[in-house]
Amino acid sequence: MKNDEPTVGRRTVLRTAVFLGVAAASGLLTVSGESGSGTPGPGPGGSGAPAGPGAPPAAGAPPAAGAPGLRARALPEKAYRLQPMTADAPVRAAAVKPAVRTRPILELPAEAAASRGMVLTFDDGPDPRYTPAILDTLARYGVRAMFFVCGEMATENRNLLRRMVDEGHVIGNHTWTHPLIPQLSRPALASEIGRTSEVVQQAVGEAPLWFRAPYGAWNRAAFEIGAELGMEPLAWTVDSLDWTEPGTPTIISRILDGAAPGVVVLSHDAGGNRSQSVQALSSYLPQLLARGYRMTLPVLPPR
Ligand SMILES: [Zn+2]
Repeated sequence: MKNDEPTVGRRTVLRTAVFLGVAAASGLLTVSGESGSGTPGPGPGGSGAPAGPGAPPAAGAPPAAGAPGLRARALPEKAYRLQPMTADAPVRAAAVKPAVRTRPILELPAEAAASRGMVLTFDDGPDPRYTPAILDTLARYGVRAMFFVCGEMATENRNLLRRMVDEGHVIGNHTWTHPLIPQLSRPALASEIGRTSEVVQQAVGEAPLWFRAPYGAWNRAAFEIGAELGMEPLAWTVDSLDWTEPGTPTIISRILDGAAPGVVVLSHDAGGNRSQSVQALSSYLPQLLARGYRMTLPVLPPR
């Protein structure tokens, strides 16, 4: 069972203060200008909307030479190519490393909240039994989301990774085997995270720019290795606890009750029977949109 949230109450208490501190210190996280009611931007050259978070429109970067056939994305992808790993930590160009944080990001900043932005995230997949239906529902409503994938799932389902990117979603790194990070040696953790980024890069042409610790169990090594690989740590604000299979109506009500401007929602598309998660999405998503929330993606801070 892949419980991602052992400390709901504590995290809820901490979230505002933590985020405000992080955001204030770094000017972190704005929300991309895309509208939740807009198109998801599937396909090449679709709406002209940014293809992913943190996309600097002025960059005008051409498609990577090493990613034939992939849709051109506006991300500064050259910056995120993984380098061969040492035994201790991945090697990466110093100029583009993000700062090493001491806490994960938990929600969107005030300006995103002001426009009723929310982020939907799905962890532990991709799983061919559930992920396609989630992607279908997101597409039906023109909504983008984040998928924090496990390498061991990703390597077997690379077509789903490609579909995610093609449909405008963002892939994050959720380690290879979903371990409890504090129990790992540093080399083991570097392998868990590094291998996962490599699989994503191989599948879609670019490595993840976000990562999330399984069970929300972060440690210093995780922040350091994540930064070394060019990723920002993203946690969540509202946990649907869908992994406990509490019943579709319960999942729906938890998310609707937790909905608020700036909230990051945690759900799962793998790790067990996620039929309830799939069903719930088709209900809470249109309700959130009807309430004026805008499903969006976080934008990376400048580097
Ligand atoms: Zn997880």
